[in-house]
Amino acid sequence: LDNVPSDIEISMAQTPKPISQLASEIGILPHELENYGNAKAKVDLSVLDRLAYRKDGKYIVVAGITPTPLGEGKSTTTIGLAQALGAELGRPSFACIRQPSQGPTFGIKGGAAGGGYSQVIPMDEFNLHLTGDIHAVTAANNLLAAALDARIFHEATQSDKALYSRLVPSKKGKREFAPLMFKRLKKLGIDKTNPDELTPEEINRFARLDVDLNTVTWNRVLDTNDRFLRKITIGQNSTEQGHARETGFDIAVASEVMAILALTTSLQDMQERLGAMVVATSKRGDAITADDIGVSGALAVLMKDAIKPNLMQTLQGTPVFVHAGPFANIAHGNSSILADRIALKLAGTEEGDSADRVGYVLTEGGFGADMGMEKFCNIKCRTSGLKPDATVIVATTRALKMHGGGPDVTPGKPLADTYTKEDLVTLKEGCKNLVRHIQNSKKFGVKVIVAINQFASDTEAELALVREESLAGGADGAVVSNHWAKGGAGARALAEAVIAICEGESQFRYLYDLDLPIEEKIEIIAKEIYGASGIELSESAKIQVDTYTKQGYRNLPICMAKTQYSFSHDPKLKNTPTGFILPIRAVRLSAGAGFLYPILGDMQTMPGLGTRPGFWEVGLDPATGRVVGLF
Ligand code: ADP
Repeated sequence: LDNVPSDIEISMAQTPKPISQLASEIGILPHELENYGNAKAKVDLSVLDRLAYRKDGKYIVVAGITPTPLGEGKSTTTIGLAQALGAELGRPSFACIRQPSQGPTFGIKGGAAGGGYSQVIPMDEFNLHLTGDIHAVTAANNLLAAALDARIFHEATQSDKALYSRLVPSKKGKREFAPLMFKRLKKLGIDKTNPDELTPEEINRFARLDVDLNTVTWNRVLDTNDRFLRKITIGQNSTEQGHARETGFDIAVASEVMAILALTTSLQDMQERLGAMVVATSKRGDAITADDIGVSGALAVLMKDAIKPNLMQTLQGTPVFVHAGPFANIAHGNSSILADRIALKLAGTEEGDSADRVGYVLTEGGFGADMGMEKFCNIKCRTSGLKPDATVIVATTRALKMHGGGPDVTPGKPLADTYTKEDLVTLKEGCKNLVRHIQNSKKFGVKVIVAINQFASDTEAELALVREESLAGGADGAVVSNHWAKGGAGARALAEAVIAICEGESQFRYLYDLDLPIEEKIEIIAKEIYGASGIELSESAKIQVDTYTKQGYRNLPICMAKTQYSFSHDPKLKNTPTGFILPIRAVRLSAGAGFLYPILGDMQTMPGLGTRPGFWEVGLDPATGRVVGLF
């Protein structure tokens, strides 16, 4: 375990096989593949139709304990397990992971390609622009923002008549509605196809979105941790005639457009979801959507390639789909339904196949199981209709020790003894965090295996203790895995345990019914998953809940925006806090993605950079031109 080279050294030392070769090995046809260089390709959604007759492979969600700065190695374990299932045990095996954001890549975390001998390669391509999906998301989000503000401006500076004649211009003496305008006419109950027949009252309602400026929820986005964009004033140039307003930026990967990319099920569905995104409420009290602004078709066009999952490979040449964004704290933080579905079909079986032909799809739910796994079950599976066969919860002794009372780490200072030497007392206390995640996961009716991601300093007694505590806490299995040092071979036992546990039909269930009132759904998550004793909504959150209920958005699942560092809203409360009241600062609506989005405590939707960000390490090697410093 001691002599493992750095992540980037290992990554660079392995030459990926041509991506077209991998595609053909896993049964993707040449016309279903779009190469982006030699090591990445997009896969066409038509694979799903071609393989519709197959029975899906097994579906496993990989989650973690509550994260600490010491890292749990969730991605590393997902990749190591995929390598073990595919390259060691010869099963069809797919890892479905999320595209990293430039925010953490240059901020606190570095890359997210896994680590040691369990990585996606080439890790520099994986960690940087990939095939441009995040750029497409950014472009779509910001086109809508620009369209909204331009519309507000034009409405403020023009009469009804002038506005209408510009919106529906006369071409060769004839006015015609643009196709999307019929959606708006229908919404307004105006049953007319000839633009010249609208009454002045109808012209007023049609042409004026009448945005209530206090209700605009649509922010601009950027994939950079730029804290100074959290709150900005726009429209300060004289050309905007004093129509300035305060708004802000969110990180692109946590945007609603990214959530739609993850949750959509087809091109048509994506276009409808993009059109249904709500940006504000009108002064009349109606939700204003991207369809009302006329931009949904353009957004779908910007996203038409991003919808196709990206194929890459592990160090051992097994397939990896990389699709949609991270951030299970402020977003739902799961990879895409489409990537999972394609993988499940490629891993699936046909009549007459023997039992050992069944393949395995590992999909990662970000951060602790209270975040990514809960949202995977209650939002993603509800949208897709898919049922997981097992949950893997990744834990390390070091992170558990921090939950058990171990001191915080100070960058640049050596780790405290508890993290480098045997300390069964602190470890045992910290196992309570793991046990709560196990018990939470079991509430969804799914079997749970704990993957103990082995570090060089772990002792036999410590590993045995985590195993015992996991089993006593209700896990269906707990296996030590050293895939970081040994690649797939190190995760063989874990892979065998996963195969064994996936036998039989899934007993999966959701945690709450959609038709409950919004507050009640929030409360169920708070109490059942976080251990809170109750919730408290701010005055503005209450108004938002009221508005969304009135507007007909009550029956949506909940996507909590909460710190990942604690079961509670307070990152300092490690291990298993209880008895706290969860403060709901605001509730936003993601009508297109299909969830309500409560924001807890002082959670920010645009991260910031610290004093010593990761970018200090990153550069190009002058001799080879290769990327250095992404770890
Ligand atoms: P997560 O997905 O939980 O954020 P990652 O899998 O990205 O964590 O791992 C974070 C870092 O920890 C990576 O740099 C990886 O190389 C390192 N790491 C993971 N597992 C181990 C291990 N068993 N031993 C040493 N380093 C590890």
